[in-house]
Amino acid sequence: MTKACLALAFFCLFFVLPLRAFDWETATVNGRDYVTLRSFCTFYGFYYEVPGGDYFTSRSTAHSLRFKLGNSDIYIDGVHYVLSLPIESGDHDWLVSRMDVIKLFDPILRPTEASDRHTIRGVVIDPGHGGTDNGAASSLGYEKTYTLETAFILEGILRAAGLKTVLTRRTDVFVDLYERAHIASLYPDYAFVSIHYNSATPEAHGLETYCLAPRGAASSSSAYLSRADIYKLPGNDTDALNILLASCVHSEIIRLNPGDPSADRGVKRARFVVIKQNILPAILVEGGFVSNHMEARRIDREDYRQRLAEAIARGIIRFVNVMGDRNIPLPEETAPAPKPVPVAPPAPSGLASESMYGAFPKPSPVSTSTASHKPKKKKPITTNGTPSNAPNTVQTPVPANPTQSASARSSTTPPPAPASSTSTPPPAATPAETATAPVGGIKPANATPSGPLNLNEPVSPAPTSVSDKPAASAEPDEPPTVSIYPTAQATNAATPTTPPSTSQP
Ligand SMILES: [Zn+2]
Repeated sequence: MTKACLALAFFCLFFVLPLRAFDWETATVNGRDYVTLRSFCTFYGFYYEVPGGDYFTSRSTAHSLRFKLGNSDIYIDGVHYVLSLPIESGDHDWLVSRMDVIKLFDPILRPTEASDRHTIRGVVIDPGHGGTDNGAASSLGYEKTYTLETAFILEGILRAAGLKTVLTRRTDVFVDLYERAHIASLYPDYAFVSIHYNSATPEAHGLETYCLAPRGAASSSSAYLSRADIYKLPGNDTDALNILLASCVHSEIIRLNPGDPSADRGVKRARFVVIKQNILPAILVEGGFVSNHMEARRIDREDYRQRLAEAIARGIIRFVNVMGDRNIPLPEETAPAPKPVPVAPPAPSGLASESMYGAFPKPSPVSTSTASHKPKKKKPITTNGTPSNAPNTVQTPVPANPTQSASARSSTTPPPAPASSTSTPPPAATPAETATAPVGGIKPANATPSGPLNLNEPVSPAPTSVSDKPAASAEPDEPPTVSIYPTAQATNAATPTTPPSTSQP
């Protein structure tokens, strides 16, 4: 009996306590699972304050965040992402879908926690179109030509960085989309990047990066869930790595358009053949619109394609480094970034320019006196009395323990400005601060690793929201040339820093 008690105590001490569940606050909207914004912020270490208007902005020690109520367009570290389900309003708080927590936020905010992380040794580069398939066209050239030239430049940069490369085509030849995915399957420790240039209405412009929609989520271009969307696809096995690769690459390529936030069209979801049939971490990059007069001229220039290839390469290498705990240096930019577009005319003499048109929005300044009210950063002490290297979590604006959150929320002091890199993992924490078993098996940002994550836990689709739309026709087979590209319900228009960029449907 005594032995049994001792065994039970031992079990509780070493297994049960570390697995104590994180207290996710959940809700259901239209049959879909959501978590409250408060518990989302608590889990990921974001400062939380009850949203008072249509927007919610926050920071953690490593990241910034911006949501808009009722909207799928969100910004993490200033980079645009399109959620699978919009931010909802609950009884007392905003709600974030469980789907997006598991399939978008967690891989991006905690990249080193991805359960299927592995060393990436090379890249399958897929130049879109070819042969009889010209892709999109302008008066200056064909998409198939631009994609192949961009692929060759990208290959050179990646090889110089020590990565292997395979191209799905090296000449102007037609290659079937399924064959491209099959080629990828021959290189199981590679990543896959398909290169395209876009086409839509003349006004449409900017860059977008696609990765596979999670099972049970509609594509970004569709407002409805079709029956086909509820089936698991081969590419869904790497959901977390798909979005992480997309995040790394997209956050680099949007730097080609400084001063033009509308050119960041976002990381979007789709079910294109080359990504849905792909067993590798896979994305499809749209490097600009040949249907836009200005961008067509730019895409036709080799120096633009060089800078685009460099940006894609930087994103890929960031992904490779996170995946394999490596430290491959990022390739240098051979061409300077273009100067930002002027945002306003000079102020008349005698007036401060800010008083005329206002500067870019800035984070709330942290005054010395205000900052002094923040919790002091404490170094956890290990059992041998030396300071632990574990990053402190005391400065985390929202405590991991929800029962302590009331006092923390009473402070209006925002946490320090975050670094902007999505590859920077949030700090780990001390065992004492371990919270646990969360939605979908996710561990808190400050949890002690206690076992494999379960990020691929199926997210149950809501049968009630399935449309009667014909399944197969819901998604174009391939990046379209004209007018199919659509654009996430044009939700850009509702977000302040992303002014309406196009007149697309
Ligand atoms: Zn294309």
